[in-house]
Amino acid sequence: MSSKKVIIIGAGLAGLSAGCYSRMNGYATRIYEHHSKPGGVAACWRRGEYLIDGGIHFMMGSQNGTDLYNIYRQLGVADPANFIPMKSYGSFIDIEGSRQLDIPLNISELALDLKMLSPADAPLIEDLATAVTAFSGKDLAIYGQMNPPELTSGLDKLTDMWKMRKLFKYMSGKYAKSMQDYTAGMQNRWLAKCLNNLFTPQCPVWFVIMLLAIAADGQMSYLAKGCKDFVRQIEKRYKDLNGEVTYSSTVEKILVRDDCAFGVRLADGTEDYADYVISAGDIHNTVFHLLDGKYIGKKLQNKFDTCELSRPYFVASFGVKRTFENESVFNTLILKQPLQVGNREIRQIFVRIFNYSNHFAPKDKSVIQAEFETEWEYWDNLRQKDPNKYAAEKERLVSEILANLEILYPGISPLVEIADVATPCTLNRYTLNHQGAPEGWGLTSQNFKEETRRSLEGLSNLYLAGHWVSGGVPGVILSGRQAIQLVCAKEKKPFFTRTT
Ligand SMILES: Cc1cc2nc3c(=O)[nH]c(=O)nc-3n(C[C@H](O)[C@H](O)[C@H](O)COP(=O)(O)OP(=O)(O)OC[C@H]3O[C@@H](n4cnc5c(N)ncnc54)[C@H](O)[C@@H]3O)c2cc1C
Repeated sequence: MSSKKVIIIGAGLAGLSAGCYSRMNGYATRIYEHHSKPGGVAACWRRGEYLIDGGIHFMMGSQNGTDLYNIYRQLGVADPANFIPMKSYGSFIDIEGSRQLDIPLNISELALDLKMLSPADAPLIEDLATAVTAFSGKDLAIYGQMNPPELTSGLDKLTDMWKMRKLFKYMSGKYAKSMQDYTAGMQNRWLAKCLNNLFTPQCPVWFVIMLLAIAADGQMSYLAKGCKDFVRQIEKRYKDLNGEVTYSSTVEKILVRDDCAFGVRLADGTEDYADYVISAGDIHNTVFHLLDGKYIGKKLQNKFDTCELSRPYFVASFGVKRTFENESVFNTLILKQPLQVGNREIRQIFVRIFNYSNHFAPKDKSVIQAEFETEWEYWDNLRQKDPNKYAAEKERLVSEILANLEILYPGISPLVEIADVATPCTLNRYTLNHQGAPEGWGLTSQNFKEETRRSLEGLSNLYLAGHWVSGGVPGVILSGRQAIQLVCAKEKKPFFTRTT
């Protein structure tokens, strides 16, 4: 047991993961969390009889035998009962043209369906299917992420690249471009739109190839009881390891002496001291507010200047007195009439149906959720300048979304028992994420290339974790682990993990 102490800012998935690994390595550990409960953006909340899940859509590496499942085991969440295997990747539904495209998990089946829809696009469809097949059967969800960049040598990188050499061509050239660039020459524009939205139009092609391969391998699941239960299991693991956490405590400053972090000051003025501080909260707040902008460094400044943030969401959830038994869980609706939000037209909404588990609604009832990307400035201005208009705008959008759902599910409106709305301001209020960014930096090809280091230039004993340094649940929980790897390296001690 070390006599040294680690303070962690934030009890999102990254902070909880860092906490678990910190305890596994014997450090006295305390997490300070702004909200009254853990989870950060992986959040669920109750509305009457309904459980609204505003977070994680799907989990990767959810079957025994993968590197990621081993990490789940260390964090106390490797319970098969947590995961319900995905049956399909989702559906695209054109309300106007009554067209529908279902995306099966089987790649040959998918390629056949797509070629039937657009024979003229067969070369691109076959190219995509060949790439997905090449990725299939590989354990890729956390490939190359087991160590932080600071502890990854040139030789480690070369070794990783050598192991991946057969896939390398699918990660460079046209596959490193965005999906919208890749599909730009397609004849069938409706199909191009669907392919662009398999994830986001801006994300690199190789990332979509990897997702389709992981899904085809049966390594993608829904969380059976939603993200709250998943988060609570990691929190329990942390507490069982004798980790300590204080909720409703916002860190206002990171204390620094001689360019070395030595503790935190909370909003109520209390100070707590430690040998290491890990910030698993918002990076903008950490750098510019908690550290007064002193340790930003050129690379990170450049990232702030040039990289987009992930686009915030408007999310409307409905508790309805009906079921949706045979519907896809994930649906992209191409709207007949775009929704006007500020000066932006929303032409498609993402509809998520929680029909895979009875945990979200009582018998014969369901939760259906609609979300779309929106602008932070629009909602922030509205909320600050005119709270009544802000409330009215939420109501207007709820009724317009419902009108669209009515086209798809006639008679749904009178069956709605509750409607719940979360705007970018809601996410910012509960998690402090800069401008309501739900997933750190935007998932663009450029951002994927720009690695964010876990330490800040000129400052020792402070490490960063979370979705601002690595994306998605796998990246985020690994970033917590990596922060403790860095602590152990600094202490010149071996890094330990355990599953008991
Ligand atoms: C809607 C949605 C769907 C998603 N779907 C998927 C998916 O399907 N698959 C997938 O892999 N990933 C998904 N993600 C991404 C994944 O959920 C996130 O990357 C991950 O949960 C982020 O965790 P985090 O700990 O890095 O950050 P956060 O969740 O933001 O946690 C940071 C925590 O720090 C706290 N904090 C911040 N500042 C302070 C401070 N000064 N003092 C004290 N506490 C502070 C915050 O309150 C918060 O609790 C999704 C994200 C969203 C929003």
